[in-house]
Amino acid sequence: MTAATTMAARSFRGSTTAGRSKEELKDLVSHVGAELELAPAEVIIEWAVATFGNRFCITSSMGDAVLAHLASRVAPGIDVVFLDTGYHFAETIGTRDAVEATLPVNLISVTPAQSVSEQDAAHGPDLYARDPDLCCALRKVKPLEDALAGYDAWATGLRRAETRNRVIAPVIGWDDKKRKVKVSPLARWSDEQVERYVAENGVLVNPLAYDGYPSIGCWPCTRRVAPGEDSRSGRWAGTGKTECGIHQ
Ligand code: SF4
Repeated sequence: MTAATTMAARSFRGSTTAGRSKEELKDLVSHVGAELELAPAEVIIEWAVATFGNRFCITSSMGDAVLAHLASRVAPGIDVVFLDTGYHFAETIGTRDAVEATLPVNLISVTPAQSVSEQDAAHGPDLYARDPDLCCALRKVKPLEDALAGYDAWATGLRRAETRNRVIAPVIGWDDKKRKVKVSPLARWSDEQVERYVAENGVLVNPLAYDGYPSIGCWPCTRRVAPGEDSRSGRWAGTGKTECGIHQ
């Protein structure tokens, strides 16, 4: 950890970094993006913490706690945003609770405007089966947009090795829809690197990951995958849908 970043990390929770304009943020991305492309994940997080202070958070779907673990080492107390859609597996909620209990992070569970029963009343039951794009928009995309309002930058655990759609994901990018800097510290990590980090650091992993679910979303839209299948092929299987919309 660099001296500058150590200071940023120490004062992370109390930092009062002012928000930057869209132009300033885009300029930052164009200058730093290429520089950090080959940097280790820790250095990428260090840069984000030093640059954005408390206007930087990480998001986690609780498939594992690799990103939360890395970020908590750089910036104890960092905000970790979890989208609690109301449709998660019990194992995912358990992983979230374990992360909150064991890592020095500020876990923020974000819920949609409507509960599942309220959504059922408004749109009819099982919207996920009839219009998964709308369901994701209501339960993931909009809640995340609202949750990120107070931040200039957010980090995701997105990796290029996960699926063909993600092979060009930049390490530091501009998310034009959200008007935020999007940081993907693990973008270049292989499956083997994730496994090694988990083993060497005793990182929490969602138990479903060892039960045929390499990518874990809401239970109605996630199925087991067979060995050798694309790791995300169990998400919205048979519908043609491949992303929930928060990475588009
Ligand atoms: S993944 Fe399925 S259940 Fe979850 S928000 Fe999207 S459509 Fe709804």
